[in-house]
Amino acid sequence: MRFMTMKSAMLALVASIALTGAAFAQDLGPRVKKLADGVYDHTGNGFDSNSGIILTDEGVIVVDTGQNPIESRDIMATVKKLTSMPVRIVIDTEPHADHTTGHFVFPGAVIIAAAGGGDSMRAADRAAPNRIQTMAGTSPEMKAALEGYKFITPTIEYHDRMTINFGGKTIELITMKGVHSESDNAVWLPRERVVFSASAFVVNQINILRPFVTIPDILAAGKMMRALKPQFVVPGHGTPGTVKIFDDGEKYYALLMDRVGALRKQGKSLDDIKKEVKMPEYASWGSQDRMPTNVEAAYKALGGKI
Ligand SMILES: [Zn+2]
Repeated sequence: MRFMTMKSAMLALVASIALTGAAFAQDLGPRVKKLADGVYDHTGNGFDSNSGIILTDEGVIVVDTGQNPIESRDIMATVKKLTSMPVRIVIDTEPHADHTTGHFVFPGAVIIAAAGGGDSMRAADRAAPNRIQTMAGTSPEMKAALEGYKFITPTIEYHDRMTINFGGKTIELITMKGVHSESDNAVWLPRERVVFSASAFVVNQINILRPFVTIPDILAAGKMMRALKPQFVVPGHGTPGTVKIFDDGEKYYALLMDRVGALRKQGKSLDDIKKEVKMPEYASWGSQDRMPTNVEAAYKALGGKI
């Protein structure tokens, strides 16, 4: 009888721990996933940008501040559920507005970016002086989330590589040139084997390849990040996963180069190739309107002059 009581008491305890665990996971919501001890990803809606939350003994590090300030506030709310410590460092994987507008939601944090991040942000800000006003007009929720907005550029910009040892966590920042923006970096946690891979590769979506982006640079970045042997890959946009994200991207670019190369051999012009090249295998990927930028990059990678 006594044994039975002990047993049922233990069962009740196990059940209550399980329930507490479930309730805790539920509180974080379906978009927040624990990847390793103290490392979380906050997945954007649809193709919205992803963010990371890294807990350390000295405070919190946030990787990218969200698609927009509504998201930034959701990231901050998630941080508050995980710890009472302040956000001390923000790392930008890229300077574009859909990763950096929400810097002001993390006041006092030191913002770290690869060299060129600040210039890129300032140029974009000058080019669209009404951006915040327009954004506030999109919904009352957005207007409320923009309350207290301040334009905040990186505090520290580094060249090539940087190691951050902070509160017991080690984070390596590795610059990636020519993959997406003027200032991209991989954020690598060697102990936890998590890499935030920026927008070098996106998932189930055609990436926009700006004139300074090259396919060989993207492939080199994939190779570099694969060599880190990460267990988890959190891309700038799209569902986080594994190195399969790099595999999928490489396959896509290989096929694109093949098809563009074949048409080029037939003597077609770039304009004709843009009209004629078909990638039906990737018809389900989002942002098909970006395909011409991809064809142009493939044409250039094959030695074509523009
Ligand atoms: Zn971007």
